[in-house]
Amino acid sequence: MIKVLKNYIGGEWIESQSKDVVSIVNPATEEVLAELRLSTTQECSHAIEVAESAFHLWKKVSVPVRARYLFSLQNLLIQNKEELANLITMESGKALAEARGEVQRGIENVENAASITSLIMGDSLSTAATNVEITNYRYPIGVIGAITPFNFPMMVPFWTFPMALATGNTIVMKPSEKTPLLMEKIISLVEQAGFPAGVLNVIFGGHDVVNTLITHPTVKAISFVGSKSVGEYVYREGCKHLKRVQALAGAKNHVIVLKDANIDRAVRDIMGGGFGSAGQRCMAAAVIVVEESIADTFTRKFLEAAKAIRMGNGLDADVFLGPVIRREAQQKTFDYIQKGVDEGANLLLDGRLNLPKKGYFVGPTIFDGVTPSMTIWKDEIFAPVVSLIRVKNLQEAIAVTNQSEFANGSCLFTNNAAAIRYFREHVDAGMLGINLGVPAPMAWFAFSGWKSSFFGDLHANGKDSVEFYTRRKVVTARYEESEI
Ligand code: NAD
Repeated sequence: MIKVLKNYIGGEWIESQSKDVVSIVNPATEEVLAELRLSTTQECSHAIEVAESAFHLWKKVSVPVRARYLFSLQNLLIQNKEELANLITMESGKALAEARGEVQRGIENVENAASITSLIMGDSLSTAATNVEITNYRYPIGVIGAITPFNFPMMVPFWTFPMALATGNTIVMKPSEKTPLLMEKIISLVEQAGFPAGVLNVIFGGHDVVNTLITHPTVKAISFVGSKSVGEYVYREGCKHLKRVQALAGAKNHVIVLKDANIDRAVRDIMGGGFGSAGQRCMAAAVIVVEESIADTFTRKFLEAAKAIRMGNGLDADVFLGPVIRREAQQKTFDYIQKGVDEGANLLLDGRLNLPKKGYFVGPTIFDGVTPSMTIWKDEIFAPVVSLIRVKNLQEAIAVTNQSEFANGSCLFTNNAAAIRYFREHVDAGMLGINLGVPAPMAWFAFSGWKSSFFGDLHANGKDSVEFYTRRKVVTARYEESEI
């Protein structure tokens, strides 16, 4: 009997009545791990109404008490770290070391949200006018809808619910239908931590659930993370339905390597940035822009390192490169590789060759001689495919980078302080790395994509998230001294 995931609404596990079923597959083995029903509009509306009832009680729970639930959850997450990491690897395919890192990032989000007693404080001015003071108080906004992608089944949901709950909101979460298993385990820990029923609800589904969340009048804000096309749609529709929306979207991150860089370190870090999580990261190092004078040396070392990568089931020790998420993603990547060849790029390493018989694997793939007119430069491939571009200098490297429609992250490898400053001032990207392969900010800083990598105003995490999940009352009061 294959297990069927249930929704979690109002503190109860409820089976969806939908006839639309999808399999949850381990992408390394093709084994069916469980099934999921794509919940209906009515089921999602029910979850929203339950969250709304819970909101009226939860918003009155004192801030330190809300923080204590989060401290309990943090403790439970630490105790269950290894099980959580194993689950991530089984359903997403990423190597266990990376899954462990992802669990840690999730825990840090809980830790950040548990600081809510300080973070949520308002501010005040004692003498704004004669005998007049002004005080700013923060309040929750209501029911939040969260829609998350497959590639970080733990970290991304943790960008939403810990802070949403800490600030006094309730939430309906829709995890990716491709990697929903982890959320079931998280809910069991949330229950053990003692959170009241109805504050956190999970509804498994696809576009019907998304459409309900972004149009239902009771939902006050939407946090979306996923691809550009869906993100843009969620942002437009959510705003049309008068919601606060943050939509974190796709990427095509450029990494620049200058002639004075430590080449061995750059190769090591870009190896992780380009091929880690099988390139299925919104912060993946997808395009490497190298100064001409070191390009041959860099390319030779990079190719050698990529050839030494161990591919396989992420649960096996020493495996660095797991599969992509589904057969369709594998085929789409093969098509991109062919397109790169057809458009004239120089294929140095072909990830279509020597693959395991089972699983949706793509080997590390490297193209040299890529130009911004090529499809493989423009599109987010979301697979272990890295493009190399050779340039004369930093200015040209930045000009190439800034042509991309995406602007999530960008990195620079150099030891030249003036170059670092120039890069920071001129590159279009919200998250910059200096001598780093993946500059994903930690929980205390906003995840800050620009251009088509983000739609909205307030980003996830950091101080932005406190703003996103709260609204203000600013009280202006007169107290006449003459009336004492
Ligand atoms: P996706 O856009 O396919 O799915 C994201 C969510 O939207 C899922 O919950 C999915 O069920 C839902 N969805 C998918 N198609 C839909 C549709 N037509 N209508 C309504 N809802 C729909 O993204 P994915 O493949 O799960 O994740 C990969 C993408 O996410 C990549 O583009 C990656 O760059 C991006 N991502 C961005 C960030 C960031 O912080 N900017 C972080 C992680 C992932």
